[in-house]
Order: sequence, then structure tokens, then C-alpha cells
Amino acid sequence: MLTDYHVHLRPDELDSTPAAEYFTQGNAERYREAAAEAGIEELGASEHIHRFADALQIWDHPFWREQARDDLAAYCEFVRSTDLRLGIEMDFVPGREDRIANLLTAHDFDYVVGSVHFVRHNAVDHRVWDIWEELGDPDRVWGTYFEALAEAARSGLFDILAHPDLVKVWGAERPVPERDLRFFYEPVVEAIAESGIAVEVSTAGYRKPVQEIYPAPAFAEMCVEAGAVFALSSDAHEPENIGYAYERAVEEMRGWGISEVSVFERRERRMEELG
Ligand SMILES: [Zn+2]
Ligand SMILES: [Zn+2]
Repeated sequence: MLTDYHVHLRPDELDSTPAAEYFTQGNAERYREAAAEAGIEELGASEHIHRFADALQIWDHPFWREQARDDLAAYCEFVRSTDLRLGIEMDFVPGREDRIANLLTAHDFDYVVGSVHFVRHNAVDHRVWDIWEELGDPDRVWGTYFEALAEAARSGLFDILAHPDLVKVWGAERPVPERDLRFFYEPVVEAIAESGIAVEVSTAGYRKPVQEIYPAPAFAEMCVEAGAVFALSSDAHEPENIGYAYERAVEEMRGWGISEVSVFERRERRMEELG
């Protein structure tokens, strides 16, 4: 079984991507065809929560205010009218757990992909809202990021922990802490083991400056050792990237000792054989 659950039906650019042009049967079919070609049976959509007006009930950040235009119920209704699974990419916002839970239970998602992009007021992967500019020191950026990620895992709000070492996205463009990176992974691995959240293996990392899968092999191996389960996705924003570099990813996963992949339906998980 191969899955692609962390999938966006449109690019991130705001002005050129109105919902009406992308939330269509024709577009869903393009994704489904790409998945079939890549041998992927389980395909789902997981749009960014910040693209929906409903997100402002959770967090009133200026970036979200600028992005939050679409109607979440209409998106859910659309995805349910296709043969795609219904997911959402939900940011973790500390202190807003109740609001996130309320929003999630108001819709019948198959799965919720939990992400940490923002830590405090800035993001680890954004050139305008840039945590690197705010904190500078790589130990502080990585420390703050992984602290938030552990909290996200422990919150119990999510089924899948997205791109779990997103902080490395910039590759050589930004400094990496000098110490053994396992120092940063360790508390997250503990939180993953305690919560039972599925760890996302994301091939998006291959397409970013870092040119490495999420999570890094050392991080993944620690998760395996702790008994974690995994989910597999591409984080595609266009049909061309569905199942991106899956052959390489599956080979990596097997090398880490992973033989099963998580499948979700109405927020229930079952394990299927990987491949
Ligand atoms: Zn993301
Ligand atoms: Zn995404």
C-alpha cells in the first residue's frame, strides 16, 4: 500500500489560486490520475487551515488574516463529493488547543495533519515572517522549533505529525547547530512515543534546498526504535508532485526498519503493508 495524504489541491500563491478554480471535479481527477500512475491507492487532500476564514477563530496573525478567505465547510463538502480522503493541514498554535479541537470536531475529517510552521510570531520556513531573523542563533531556532513540535505531538489534536524536521528546510542557506542533532530530536521522539501520533515521512524535503527527506535518517531511526508508526506523503501542491520520489522514500523507509504505513478513515487508523 502507498498513500499520499499531505496533498494541496492548489499552489500556495494567494491571488492566483481561487478555490473555485481548484476545488473542481476536473482538478481532483488530475490528482487521482497522477496517483494511479504512481501506484498510490490512498489519496487525500489536506489544504492549509490558514486559507480558510474559519482559521481566524483560532489565531489572528497578520499572515493568516491576509490568507484566510475560503469557506471550510464548502471545502469539506467538495472533497466529500470526490473519491479523495478528506484531510486538513492544521497548524499547532500553543494556548489555542480548545479552539483547534472545536474546529476539528465540527467537520468529519478522515485525518488531521498537524504542522509546526510558526513558533511564536514567526515561522521557520517563511522569508517574510522569519524566526531566523528574530532569534539568529541556530541552537535557539532549532530548540524553539522542536519544543513546539513535541507540544504539538502531545496535544493529541492530530493524527499525523507533518514534515517533522521542517526547521532544516533551508539547507546550506541557514546555519545548523553544531551539536549532535539527536539532542533536539530526543524530546520529540519521547512525545511521539507517548502520544502514538503517526510520523510523516515527506518527500517534500527532496524538493527543498536541504535535499533530504523529512525526517532525517537519524531522527527516523530513533522514532522506529521508540515504536512509532509512520505515514507517507509528498506534500504536493500540483498533480506532478503526487508520489514524488516514492521509490527512493520507500527504500529509505525499509532501511530504517519500517514495513507498514498508516491508513486513515474518519480519524481511525489502521496499518497496511508498505509498498
Ligand atoms: Zn506544512
Ligand atoms: Zn503542506
